[in-house]
Amino acid sequence: MTVGVVGAGVSGLAVVRELSNRGVDVVGFEARKEPGGIMRSRQVDGHVLELGPQRLRLTEQMSGLIDELGLREELRIGDDDQPMYVYLDGELKVVPLSVREAFTTDLLSIGGKVRILKEPFTEPPRDGETVEEFLTRKFGRQAARRYLGPLYSGLYGTDPDEMLMEYSLGKALRGAGIDGSILLWLIRKLIGGREVPEICTFEDGLGTLSDALYEANADSIRLETPVTEIRRDGDGFEIATAGGVTSVDEVVITTQADSAAELLSGVDDGTAETLERFNYNPIAMVYLESAFDRPGIGTLVPWYESSKISGTTWNSSFLHRDGLFTCYVDPGSYPEMLEVSEETLGEEIAREFETLTGSPATPIDVHLIEPGMPAYDRSWKALDELTPPDGIHFCTAFTERPGIPGRLRHAARVAGQITESESGFGR
Ligand SMILES: Cc1cc2nc3c(=O)[nH]c(=O)nc-3n(C[C@H](O)[C@H](O)[C@H](O)COP(=O)(O)OP(=O)(O)OC[C@H]3O[C@@H](n4cnc5c(N)ncnc54)[C@H](O)[C@@H]3O)c2cc1C
Repeated sequence: MTVGVVGAGVSGLAVVRELSNRGVDVVGFEARKEPGGIMRSRQVDGHVLELGPQRLRLTEQMSGLIDELGLREELRIGDDDQPMYVYLDGELKVVPLSVREAFTTDLLSIGGKVRILKEPFTEPPRDGETVEEFLTRKFGRQAARRYLGPLYSGLYGTDPDEMLMEYSLGKALRGAGIDGSILLWLIRKLIGGREVPEICTFEDGLGTLSDALYEANADSIRLETPVTEIRRDGDGFEIATAGGVTSVDEVVITTQADSAAELLSGVDDGTAETLERFNYNPIAMVYLESAFDRPGIGTLVPWYESSKISGTTWNSSFLHRDGLFTCYVDPGSYPEMLEVSEETLGEEIAREFETLTGSPATPIDVHLIEPGMPAYDRSWKALDELTPPDGIHFCTAFTERPGIPGRLRHAARVAGQITESESGFGR
């Protein structure tokens, strides 16, 4: 059996690896000249810039992979035992991420803190409930607006009142095994002393991991080879690229929804139309150099604040990347972001950073991600209608959890399904 894998981001690279390890003949296609998709790094003026994720959790599975790929020497452990801030009413306020911070933070009034304690007596998510409605009902309006809403929805650049629980936070809670009170789950975790895996990166950034995954299976992956069409061919498929046609028995798609829709229009119109419905939010990452030296992980900036920045990561402090700060901009925080030049965007965001922190900053670089981050808004209801045609598999960040550990697990599962179906099971 031959399997074609479209896309060599972390999902595609992991699927190629999993299938090759199971002895399957696999051929991967990547449109760009470099592997890694969203997870890539770039060196500019002596700074290591991350073009997507800024750090990973060193889970057991990740640690095993690092050893298998011989990357242990390049591994760098960060320090996330530092505060996270919310920019509110012109000030940086500590987000309560520990019991101590929950008591000391001035982000919430005493009434706001007491209201959180009622959470165990509230009901689980209701049908059709939005993330904002859910968080407000569970934890009170103050915690929902000032802290929990921005903490969750800020990742995706979507207003929490546009995110349906069932397709967003609800899924994340179920994935973490939380089906009752969130507060009691947190308390049990604290009492049980369950360790959260350390955060990590590599000397030259997370692109090191993408590059090593690629190198391990380079013979099976064609870079700079965009797939233009997928067609049925008897029991299998033809994958068309500018260089010709490759016949395969099964196909794994790992691209974002819009590319997947284009590729599948020749196989199944209905699936292609469903895929077109998923919304993404473009995101710009602006890298700044600054002498700002307060310890911290970064800042959330709620969608209702007037800043053009929606969040910042303080690489300087928690990843020991001297003087480096990454700022995120999305159309919710700056609607004209796609109309201004990169130079203007860099300068404007440096000024906004100074407003947030009080420290001047100089732009280093700008990176735009399009279509961007899955919005997980109401358009995600399309998931209910998404059934891949027989012989086509999705291993995509938009159908399951987008985090890197989740991508690796999904790839292993898809490879397992394919190899079972080869021997007649699971079809
Ligand atoms: C700003 C940002 C920060 C993030 N931070 C974190 C974090 O801290 N921790 C974490 O765990 N996760 C984080 N994530 C999520 C995680 O990075 C992504 O979900 C993950 O990298 C997606 O990988 P992927 O392979 O599924 O998709 P992608 O990386 O999008 O890869 C898809 C690949 O398909 C290729 N492609 C598309 N069309 C075609 C075609 N027609 N033919 C051939 N190739 C094609 C693309 O070029 C691309 O390389 C972050 C994401 C973003 C955007």
